[in-house]
Amino acid sequence: MTTPVSELHVISHPLVQHKLTLMRQKDRSTSSFRRLLGEIAMLMAYEVTRDMPTQLIEIETPLAKMRSPVIEGRKTVFVAILRAGTGFLDGMLEVIPGARVGHVGLYRDPKTLVAVEYYFKMPHGMNERDAILLDPMLATGNSAVAAVDRLKETRPRSIRFVCLLAAPEGIKNFHTHHPDVPIYTASVDEKLNDHGYIVPGLGDAGDRIFGTK
Ligand code: URA
Repeated sequence: MTTPVSELHVISHPLVQHKLTLMRQKDRSTSSFRRLLGEIAMLMAYEVTRDMPTQLIEIETPLAKMRSPVIEGRKTVFVAILRAGTGFLDGMLEVIPGARVGHVGLYRDPKTLVAVEYYFKMPHGMNERDAILLDPMLATGNSAVAAVDRLKETRPRSIRFVCLLAAPEGIKNFHTHHPDVPIYTASVDEKLNDHGYIVPGLGDAGDRIFGTK
C-alpha cells in the first residue's frame, strides 16, 4: 500500500487575500483584526468543506416531495487549538452552526518550541465525524503535529487542518508526520525566524486576536 501524500491547498480567493493583507498590517486594531479573521474563517470554511460527502434525504417542500442532499454522517467537529484557534472558530461556526466543537490545549515551550498538552476534550461519536482542526499559524508545526497525534486516537472519519499562514518548515514537519491530513492555508510565507515566528507573518496571532500585548 502506498502512503498518501498530504495535499496543500492554498486558498487564493481575492477576498481572502485582500483581508489577509489588512490583517498583516501592524497598526490594525484588535477589533478590526478579529473581525477580519472571522470573515476569512467563513470564506475558508466554504473551501474546506467543498468535497464533503452528501446523502439524499426525503423532504417535503410546500409544493412537492423530493430527495435532497445533506452532509452525510454525524455533524462536523471543529477542533480549535487553544488559544488562537478559538479566534478562527467563530467564523467557521457562522457557516456550520450545528457543528460540534473540540478543544486541544497546547503551549509551546519557549526554549525548545516543543508542544506540551494541557487540555483535550472532544464530543462523542468521533468515529462518525469529519474533524477540521484549526490554528491560525502553522509555524514549526509541532503543535499541529501533536494535536493530530491526539486527534487520531479518537478515530474521526477524516481530518483536515486549516491555518491562515504556514511556514515552509511547518508544512514539511506536518507532511512528514501526517501525510494523510490535507492542509488548507491562505498563504505560505517565507520562513521562520529564530524565535519560531513566521516571517513576514502577522506577529503573535493570539495576542493580536485577544489584545494581550
Ligand atoms: N504563532 C504565532 O502566533 N505567530 C507566529 O508567527 C508563529 C506562531
